[in-house]
Amino acid sequence: MTRTLKLHVNCQKVVKLHQEHPKNIRTEYDRLHETLFQELVTSTTLVEKRDMKTHQTFLSSDRLYTCTTCHTHLARHEDLISKAFQGRLGRAYLFNKVTNVSLGPKEDRLLMTGVHSVKDIRCDVCSNVVGWKYVFAFEKSQKYKENKYIVEKAMISKENQWDEP
Ligand SMILES: [Zn+2]
Repeated sequence: MTRTLKLHVNCQKVVKLHQEHPKNIRTEYDRLHETLFQELVTSTTLVEKRDMKTHQTFLSSDRLYTCTTCHTHLARHEDLISKAFQGRLGRAYLFNKVTNVSLGPKEDRLLMTGVHSVKDIRCDVCSNVVGWKYVFAFEKSQKYKENKYIVEKAMISKENQWDEP
């Protein structure tokens, strides 16, 4: 039973009890009313949390990279480190920082430059995997990538018609 349905059924129960209103079920009525109240508080909190989750950050920059699918702001040109990276879908960009993404579980992945611990990053709005975050690099020469983000070129668009630098 879904939470909403359960809530609805509880509502009906309270209404029914209220209509019948015999004094001997007064305690039961109070108990159910209390449960219903708790349910309402919980479901309201859940809704608030969900709203917070889908609340987007809007970046302020003249030059932005957005999600190709849903146009959510993902990164600023100022945070771009390099365009010479290889993703799973072809060319990829390395960024210092990305916004409006959620991290997936940590996994060790063998990439062209050795084994790295990475977490996939998903667009918060459309849930598409747009790249990954480097969590740990096993090779000393690759340490500079740690805590930086790969974004697949195929998954992003330029927000404005700005020229290539
Ligand atoms: Zn998206």
